[in-house]
Amino acid sequence: MQTSSAPEQKQIVDPEALRERYRIERDKRLRPEGADQYLEPSGRFAHLEADPWADTDPREPVNVEVTTAIIGAGFAGLAAGVRLVEAGIDDLCLIDSAGGVGGVWYWNRYPGAMCDTAAMIYLPFLEETGHRPSAKYVPGSEIHEHAQRIADQYGLCDNALFSTQVTGMTWDSTAHRWVISTDRGDEIRARFVTMGTGPLNRPKLPGIEGLETFEGHCFHTSRWDWDYTGGDRHGSPMTALADKRVGIVGTGATAVQCIPVLGRDSRELFVFQRTPSSIDVRANVDLDPEFFDDLEPGWQQRWLLNFATLQTGGFADEDLVMDGWTDISQRIRDRVIQMMGDLQGSGESFGPDLILRAYEESDDEKMNEIRARVDSIVRDPEVAEALKPWYRQLCKRPCFHDEYLQTYNLESVHLVDTDGRGVERVDASGVWVGDEHFELDCLVLASGFEVDIAPKARYEVVGRGGVTLQDYWSDGMRSLHGTYVHGFPNLFILGLSQGANLISNVTHNYTEAATRIASVIRHSLDGAGEVVEATEQAERDWVDQLDADGTGFIGNADCTPGYYNNEGREPGRKERLNAARFPEGPVAFFNLMHRWRTSGDFEGLEFC
Ligand code: NDP
Repeated sequence: MQTSSAPEQKQIVDPEALRERYRIERDKRLRPEGADQYLEPSGRFAHLEADPWADTDPREPVNVEVTTAIIGAGFAGLAAGVRLVEAGIDDLCLIDSAGGVGGVWYWNRYPGAMCDTAAMIYLPFLEETGHRPSAKYVPGSEIHEHAQRIADQYGLCDNALFSTQVTGMTWDSTAHRWVISTDRGDEIRARFVTMGTGPLNRPKLPGIEGLETFEGHCFHTSRWDWDYTGGDRHGSPMTALADKRVGIVGTGATAVQCIPVLGRDSRELFVFQRTPSSIDVRANVDLDPEFFDDLEPGWQQRWLLNFATLQTGGFADEDLVMDGWTDISQRIRDRVIQMMGDLQGSGESFGPDLILRAYEESDDEKMNEIRARVDSIVRDPEVAEALKPWYRQLCKRPCFHDEYLQTYNLESVHLVDTDGRGVERVDASGVWVGDEHFELDCLVLASGFEVDIAPKARYEVVGRGGVTLQDYWSDGMRSLHGTYVHGFPNLFILGLSQGANLISNVTHNYTEAATRIASVIRHSLDGAGEVVEATEQAERDWVDQLDADGTGFIGNADCTPGYYNNEGREPGRKERLNAARFPEGPVAFFNLMHRWRTSGDFEGLEFC
């Protein structure tokens, strides 16, 4: 292994010393260019974004009028479709650049792909479809199949336009219709449009000098080249790698899942690491189908709320999901209770300082466990030291895996730790780290995705009076509930920002939003008015409320850089608004939205 991070001490127990170590590690990784360090998969890299799973044969342009166009056929779009069909609105048109439904699960077919949010809560509509997940955490293929199952059951593919990129949409204020154009020459006129294009939908490439000069094979994890590697996503060995020297850039949540399989099948594997991920226990178990027989109707909603409550520090009688996500928040909560007990009679009062201390102590405990786990699994002490994460657990996406660390015990697997600098240069035959050259046959880019926490269309959305959404949001996202935007009538956004922003279970945000949107559309169709729009005042009040709170990014600027903390840059108002969340937390948001929807008033919306 190459590493320049000196193994200092196995465990740091002094909180101040730990903080100092975190600061040193963060400073090594701060880059002045922030998120601009990454390259777009366009121009000379365009082939890295092509769809390997679909034939994009030419077709005749489609010219139709529908009640609702649904842009994005991932779980956001599917949730919208399901709730609309349930509300009796089945005149729909799904549009997606992918060749089918599934969103991230359509694209990400890399070996080992799984969701480490429990299937009982991550997979939407389990009761509606009757699907019984095979395990607590299920593979990507099962998730993709589930997306297809939902689409089939609700007829969502009947008029869908796949392998079709929306190129623009304009509000026709005379006809009260959105006019959508696509790269296939289509014109879709829709009374309502839902936009659920997901926060992680476009691959980004590492900004490494000379990347384009590499003459070996190169692909992004979200476009896995099974023709090159052999094998399949169900676990068959990638036999064509048996004589290959493979390199992988990145050690985030994706890489953590595919490295064990790459390590198993490659002649040699070189893992180029900039920042190690935190790897907690996953402890996956198969689920007995009979387990579902005893669940009472409405169970999935109860599980969803139980998880959201516990994961965000609330109280519940039992922990139904019981995993690493709920563990950290329950530790904090239990510590707060214990500290409150200790305070009794001391004259000290309970306040934010105490909560912060409880959080810090719980996090220190958790991260020490995670670092100790590395020592207990990885045999080479130098490799183990380099695999330890020195930051708070929620600074980066926490990972959960039971084979990742073990992979570094294989002789054919080499960790190339770059001590926070990253790979600086690629040439025709391989990768340079410092003055060492690693010759490679294949380079896998596990460098992640453009992160649009605030929904960002890759096309122009022109609302009332010719105003574009891009201009309207030039100083940051503005919305009511993260869904309705003043000046953009009959347009509904399914996203995370300015709503619950429950990042540990993304699909829950979508199903809740879809329920509300379907109610609003139903109300409109039932005669409330052809056009529905957030009032300027309601939108302003909502945004002011979020702005006053000021939280949004999960990690703060003290964190090691990543998309959870705006790449380590102190966020300005615009960035804060783009990542804002309801101040009282996801469960309070869902409850508020339930009351808002069922009251029938739809306060803040204007129907005319
Ligand atoms: P990430 O953005 O999390 O990771 C990108 C990786 O590339 C990081 O390790 C980054 O290092 C590294 N990198 C970037 N540039 C360089 C460079 N020049 N040299 C070396 N390394 C470099 O992307 P992922 O695809 O891993 O994950 C994206 C998101 O997808 C996750 O956060 C998660 O939300 C989701 N996901 C969820 C899964 C699930 O189980 N539910 C599974 C997989 C993904 P650094 O950390 O230093 O920036």
